[in-house]
Parts: sequence; structure tokens; C-alpha cells
Amino acid sequence: MCFLLRIERVSFLDLELTAEQKMVVKAASEVAKDFDPEYWRNKDKNHEFPEDFWKALVDAGFVGILIPEKYGGGGMGMFEMILAMETLTSESCGLAGEWFLCLTSVFGGLSILKHGNELQKDNYLPRISKGMEFCLGLTEPDAGSNTLNIQTAAVETGDEYVINGRKTLISGADRAKGMLLVTRTTPLEKAPKRTLGLSLFLVDLPNQAVEVTPIEKHGINYSNTCDVYITDLRVPRENLLGEKDKGWYLVLDTLNPERMSFSAAAAGLGLLAIKKAVEHAKQRKVFGAPIGSYQALQFPLAEAKAKIEAARLLNYKAAWLYDRGQPCGAEANMAKVVAVEAGIQAVYHAMQTFGGYGYAVDYDVERWWREVNLTRLAPVTHEMALSFIGEHVLGLPKSY
Ligand SMILES: Cc1cc2nc3c(=O)[nH]c(=O)nc-3n(C[C@H](O)[C@H](O)[C@H](O)COP(=O)(O)OP(=O)(O)OC[C@H]3O[C@@H](n4cnc5c(N)ncnc54)[C@H](O)[C@@H]3O)c2cc1C
Repeated sequence: MCFLLRIERVSFLDLELTAEQKMVVKAASEVAKDFDPEYWRNKDKNHEFPEDFWKALVDAGFVGILIPEKYGGGGMGMFEMILAMETLTSESCGLAGEWFLCLTSVFGGLSILKHGNELQKDNYLPRISKGMEFCLGLTEPDAGSNTLNIQTAAVETGDEYVINGRKTLISGADRAKGMLLVTRTTPLEKAPKRTLGLSLFLVDLPNQAVEVTPIEKHGINYSNTCDVYITDLRVPRENLLGEKDKGWYLVLDTLNPERMSFSAAAAGLGLLAIKKAVEHAKQRKVFGAPIGSYQALQFPLAEAKAKIEAARLLNYKAAWLYDRGQPCGAEANMAKVVAVEAGIQAVYHAMQTFGGYGYAVDYDVERWWREVNLTRLAPVTHEMALSFIGEHVLGLPKSY
């Protein structure tokens, strides 16, 4: 069995993209052309949601890319999603090239596709394909990375659940029409196992019982991240996603694609910053020769490029495994660790290459720096990804 698996994995190295995958890259490139860095600079500066970009993503089929054709989507997998995200991000859009697709297509579309019943799929998937925005309500102020510690409680009463609690750092909650809400249906102290007792709900928004307040933040100012207070929210039983109390296992299934998305974003941002730094370094002369001829500037960019390309391969492997229903937690976490470090290194040295101009808003690098740093904090922090590798890949004792 192990031997067979290895052979299957070797076939992964045949990286020739199919005609369909090449079309995905081409279509993403076409979209990116219309949304240049100046567009994103202004959206970020003015805290404006990019309505026309979102429309372009919907029209080109990227929002529904993971959704089967019978629900109005493209019927493709995470591999194609990663190709689209990398292309959009690296060609001009920065983190936005991944962000909106992750919120709606991964948190909403993929979760419902994987775990929804037929009624839920019929209700949500066609609307998501057409651009119904989604968000994920997972993080809580008193739980943080310790997801199993969440306190938001859903209590079953008759044919509905009544939900109370607080979420924080929820992106897109101010605009979303749907939220994948992670709750506890059995309190931690009463659960037979720590990993039991969580349940997921599909919540229609806006709702009077859900108060959403944007939090001022460092970057990605074209999309709000919010505090969410939930008071006596009534959700019909049919909006329970998957089995009651087994939500943790469903969440894990969403978290791996989320990691892959952020790896694509970090790699894409790194490539975008390197491209701009190289253009600048070829033409900027201060001591007669182009500054790109100095090894102090050239080598860090070359090293970051090499690491990004390695990270991309690992991320492709994670997506390839996911699309075949195989375990991919190890690859998804390892790809994230490498992609994020490489992306951060690339943007850091791009900023140095621009010298003082790197600090000026009009050169965009400072914005990409603010964006790329998020990938080290979310969706999983760098330390938690390393803990996963230590425990599940290396077999070391759990570190916390
Ligand atoms: C811009 C932004 C958007 C976000 N969007 C969403 C969203 O849409 N939906 C959502 O649900 N959440 C969202 N989040 C939340 C994000 O997933 C969390 O911030 C992240 O999981 C970390 O949780 P925390 O901030 O509570 O940090 P904490 O858990 O408090 O961690 C703080 C620090 O301690 C470290 N640490 C904690 N425990 C350990 C340990 N055992 N070993 C080693 N180090 C440890 C962490 O790695 C981190 O460096 C977003 C966050 C940001 C910043």
C-alpha cells in the first residue's frame, strides 16, 4: 500500500498543465490586467470595497470554480483554485487576488459542497456561484488559536437552535450574506472528547441578532475585518451543516484549503514584489552601474525566488492530494511555512531594493509588506503550523 502510494505521488511530478488548467491561468491573467497596483493602492487608501473586481471574479467563473457545473460553477478543484489565486496575486492584485475567493469560495462554497445536504447545496451553491458573499465565524477573543476552547453556544430548542456568543477578526462579515458559524453544542467540560461538541451552522446575514463592527487594521483596507456579537440568534435546524457535535472534523477539512490559499497568496505576493524590484534594480543607477548588479541586493531576491518556487511545488502537491481525497495536512502546513517565509523575505528585500521609495505609498511595496505579514498570522499562525509538523509529521510530543 505504502509502495503504491509512493508511485502515485511520483506521478505528481508530471507537471504539464491540462488545456483547462492553462485556460484558468490565462483567464486569471486577463482579469488581473484590469486591476493594476494603482487600483489597489486607491482601494486600500480609501477603504473601498472593490465592487468591479468582485464582479469580474464572478463573471470569469472564479467565485464558482470549485462548485460543480449543476450548481452553476466550474466543477474544478483546489489545484485550479491555487493556479487562479497565484496568477491574480502575482500579476498585479496582491493579497486581494486570494482574499475574496478564500472568504466566499473556500469558507462558503467548499464547506457546503463537502458537507452540505442536497437542500443546502441547492439553496446556497448556485447563489455563491453568482457572487453571494460568505464569511467564516471561527475566531473568538478568549479562545484564539485554541479553537476547541470556543464559547459561542448553540442550544437546541424545538426545531431551531438559539445561538449566543462573540466572534472576533471575522473578515467580510459586514457585507456577507452568509456565514459559516462555528459553535459549541456541547460544552467542553461535558464533551466525551475535546474534539467533540462543536457544530457548524449556515447563518443568513444580515440578521438583527448579529451585530457586526469593523475593526481598524494594518492592511487589506479594501475589505473589513470585524467584531461580531451574537445575541439570541435563532437558526432553523436545517441550517446545521454536517452532523451535530462533529463540527471539528468538518472545520479541519476547510482549514487545509485555507492554508493552501494563503500559501498561494504569500508566494504570489513574493513574485509580484520581486518582479517590481527587478524592474527597478535594472534601471536605477546611483554609482554608475544598475543597483541590481550589486550582490547585496541581487542574492536575497534570487534566494527568495528559489524558495518561492519550491513552496509552490509543495503547495501544488497539497492541492493535488486534497483533490484526490487523500490526507494533505502535512503538505498544506509545510507549504504554508515555506511559502510565508519566502514571501516575506521577497517583499522585505524588494523594499530594500527600492531604497527610500520603498517606503512611499506610490511604489506599492509598503502595501505588499503590510499584506504579506498577515500570512504569518492567519489563517493559522506560523507557530501553530510548526506545531502541526512537529507533532504529526515528525511524531514529536505535542508541544502545548
Ligand atoms: C486580518 C485578519 C483577518 C482574519 N480573518 C478571520 C476570519 O475571517 N475568520 C476567523 O474566524 N478568523 C479570522 N482571523 C483570525 C486569525 O485566524 C487568528 O488571528 C489566528 O488564528 C490567531 O489567533 P489569535 O489572534 O487569537 O492569536 P493567539 O492564539 O492569541 O496567539 C498569539 C501568539 O501566540 C502564539 N501561540 C499561541 N499558542 C501557541 C502554542 N501552543 N505554541 C506556540 N505558539 C503559540 C501564536 O502563534 C501567536 O504568535 C483573522 C485575523 C486577521 C489578523
